[in-house]
Amino acid sequence: MELLDKLTILADAAKYDVACTSCGVGRKAVKGQLGDTMNAGICHSFSADGRCVTLLKVLYTNVCSYDCAYCINRRSNDVPRTTFSPRELADLVMGFYRRNYIEGLFLSSAVLKSPDYTTERMCEALHLLRESYGFRGYIHAKAIPGTSDDLLVRLGVLADRVSLNIELPSEKSLQLLAPEKGKSSTLGPMAFVRDGIKANYQDKQLSTIKRTKFVPAGQSTQMIVGASPESDYHILKLSSSLYQTMELRRVFFSAYIPVNTDPLLPSTTETPLLREHRLYQADWLMRFYEFNVDEIIEEDEPFLDPLVDPKCNWALRHIDQFPAEVNKVPYEMLLRIPGIGVLGARRIVQARRHRSIRFEDFKRLRIPLKRAKYFITCNGMYAKGVIFDPSSIYHQLSTETKKRRAKGVLDGQLQLLDV
Ligand code: SF4
Repeated sequence: MELLDKLTILADAAKYDVACTSCGVGRKAVKGQLGDTMNAGICHSFSADGRCVTLLKVLYTNVCSYDCAYCINRRSNDVPRTTFSPRELADLVMGFYRRNYIEGLFLSSAVLKSPDYTTERMCEALHLLRESYGFRGYIHAKAIPGTSDDLLVRLGVLADRVSLNIELPSEKSLQLLAPEKGKSSTLGPMAFVRDGIKANYQDKQLSTIKRTKFVPAGQSTQMIVGASPESDYHILKLSSSLYQTMELRRVFFSAYIPVNTDPLLPSTTETPLLREHRLYQADWLMRFYEFNVDEIIEEDEPFLDPLVDPKCNWALRHIDQFPAEVNKVPYEMLLRIPGIGVLGARRIVQARRHRSIRFEDFKRLRIPLKRAKYFITCNGMYAKGVIFDPSSIYHQLSTETKKRRAKGVLDGQLQLLDV
């Protein structure tokens, strides 16, 4: 098979992995307009320092010995199959890099023969890149659950970021939909990588390599949302616990895309993108806004409201803490006001040192008032036209969401995801 054919198959097969999502949409160019997108191949992602980087997103192989019910690459599917050789993959990356198409590589894989067999080949490709070609660009590698410790060390020294996909939010669902994987085959290696980052594990066989820090960009995971019955409460609790115990940089949520017909899978043709979007918003609140998971969602109401974002939802459930007077409330409370982000809160704190803030100042401070206006006062005054009444606020916010949904805005929205 020609290399280009392999690339076409393996880049397309990688598009379901959401740890970098910007290539999830296919849109053709239109005369008189600018730009188009491909749903596979090169994607844009955001690194931890906020830079936007382009990555070649590809599988090493889509030949899989596992049969996960939800996956296009499962062994029982009749799809074109192929595998790179380590040299082919390394040459491809270098060719793209030299042409300035990409700044790095996002490498995942199906399970060819066994996790170790596959990981060895992935490591060979990365070793060629790092050692023979001196490639110092960014590499995000997926580690396959069940990979042995020695190979994890090698992978972790060669890659910048490693991720182990937890895939489904409970052991029960894993047993049902991905019986060859188990929670322990993911959590064990995840704990190993966590410990390795702290101890900076090294592989003696790779001692000649110049860049030897173990997983310098940390590790992440991915969960499929909607292929199994677990609630948002369950998913967020699990995410929160993974952040704490496994010290993950990111938990990615992947809305279930129905690509297979299987009695074990939900009978839907829809992809729950809005649900995925709300989960990312909740995740954002936990990571940057000092919210505890129990403040965001409760067990007796285990799904996030699709019509109102989780921060607004929290504010409406704690309406006694509002309106917040922007000239007085502490930074921690500014962070909890819907529509005010971390930067906005900092700008307010800075600005109010000099003089009190009025509604007219928000534009200059580059803080949108669209949602914030319902929850704040400036010098004791409400924004023009605002009626401080929870049910009226809910109605206005949910109407806004419905309008945006009708235009397809939320479904197509991309989160700023670091890779
Ligand atoms: S291991 Fe499962 S999820 Fe991964 S490629 Fe194979 S069938 Fe798909």
